[in-house]
Amino acid sequence: MKHEKEQKTSATSFSDEIRSQLGGETIALCYQCGTCASSCPVAKTTERYNPRDIIRLSLLGEKQEVLTSGAIWLCSSCYNCQERCPQKVEIADVIYALRNIAIKEGHIPNIYSEFATGLMNEGRIVPISKFVEKKRPEYGLPPLRPAGLDTLKKILAATGFDKIQWKKEGTP
Ligand code: SF4
Ligand code: SF4
Repeated sequence: MKHEKEQKTSATSFSDEIRSQLGGETIALCYQCGTCASSCPVAKTTERYNPRDIIRLSLLGEKQEVLTSGAIWLCSSCYNCQERCPQKVEIADVIYALRNIAIKEGHIPNIYSEFATGLMNEGRIVPISKFVEKKRPEYGLPPLRPAGLDTLKKILAATGFDKIQWKKEGTP
């Protein structure tokens, strides 16, 4: 009995946490019809991703599984699901809310952690190699300009991006 009560409490608290995030407000409207999963191009290519399952697990309070399995990082943000959901669950935005919670709790795939570090240190998410710089003129491309790092650092500081602990985890 106690176990059942604890499960309900953890489901409610995770659901409340998601709903308090920007984008997560509509998650509890889901009635598990599966329209999102059948509209999702990513779910068609891999069994590792299913938006309906992510919502179900979230509403059941399976916080660790949702935040650490890597699935939430596979959404391509195409919004097909969101256009079609009969309950108007803002699914793609719920996934963003889940990612934001995951980042706050230090669960971020290596690749995104590296993108963030590159952005903060060099103003680019992917560093430009000397090889690429040398090749650009061969393709008629102009030399790359400096990334405007000072301005970017101000923006990152104003948004709090630079205060996030970009801990590395596994790749999705
Ligand atoms: S389409 Fe909407 S209501 Fe149906 S499972 Fe997906 S989120 Fe839930
Ligand atoms: S926004 Fe994400 S979950 Fe929705 S259909 Fe596109 S890839 Fe799938």
